[in-house]
Amino acid sequence: MSGETLQVYFLGTAGALPTPVRNPPCIMIRRGTDTILFDCGEGAQQQMMRARCGFTIDAIFVTHWHADHFLGIFGLVQTMSFNGRTEPLTIYGPSWVHEFVETVKRICRFNLKFTLDSGELSDGSWVRFNGYTITAFAVSHGMPALGYVLEEDHRPGRFDREHAISLGIPPGPLFGRLQRGETVRIKKDGEEHDIQPSDVMGAPRPGRKVVYTGDTRPVIPALITHAKDADLLIHDATYDESEKKRATEFYHATAAQAGEAAAAANVRTLALTHISSRYTETTTHAQEAKASFSGTVIIPDDLVMVEITYRE
Ligand SMILES: [Zn+2]
Ligand SMILES: [Zn+2]
Repeated sequence: MSGETLQVYFLGTAGALPTPVRNPPCIMIRRGTDTILFDCGEGAQQQMMRARCGFTIDAIFVTHWHADHFLGIFGLVQTMSFNGRTEPLTIYGPSWVHEFVETVKRICRFNLKFTLDSGELSDGSWVRFNGYTITAFAVSHGMPALGYVLEEDHRPGRFDREHAISLGIPPGPLFGRLQRGETVRIKKDGEEHDIQPSDVMGAPRPGRKVVYTGDTRPVIPALITHAKDADLLIHDATYDESEKKRATEFYHATAAQAGEAAAAANVRTLALTHISSRYTETTTHAQEAKASFSGTVIIPDDLVMVEITYRE
């Protein structure tokens, strides 16, 4: 089974202020035919054009109500309406999401041709999609703020073809039925036997997992609960260690703290984001994150796309 594609587009990687090369926060995840937006900073539409990833958004998850994380929504929904969208769209987020969506509707009142809904989430609440779940977890940003985990359903275990043949199952349709979880009956040596899927299938294999913290101080216990063994952790790394006091004061994280979180949660790849506009280069961020985390560290530029493969 080759599975669905899972792609993460870094459309905006700046901190609170945009820079000539980094837009405010916006991360798009494409999973199969679904497209989900996490935060939608100012200028997100043009970033989508530059990344050539389209405007067909199925849901928007906002981490918190600082303007750098939502200002792009106003223009985006008007463009969707202009383009003839009719399918409803839900914006999810922490408390105040209902008021926010009402505000968007008021501002766009003559232009919206589709239904805009709001879904309030809190620590541990989740939204089910076809083949995966998005779960919210509380982070520490001095106001109601959520991180999100996109986790795929388990994949079926590996089918042991040689073993199936040795049990007397003829290659063909019975293989497919076992792989779909059905018990099959075969005749061997003149006697009938039931073969269970577990006789020929390995243990279910975990799906892929992508975690986005949004803006936050380090929340390692929550990450160990929600981000354990994630394929990709996208973590606030607004500052480097020279600004550690400022990071704590403004409820952000340093690159070193993001590295410690990634190590504690045993993730595969750590992506540092929400880089403060004071930094024109990020070598120090990378070095500091690597001090405690031995996995892969990336500091994506805007428009970088990362493809998440299955672990084998
Ligand atoms: Zn922010
Ligand atoms: Zn913020």
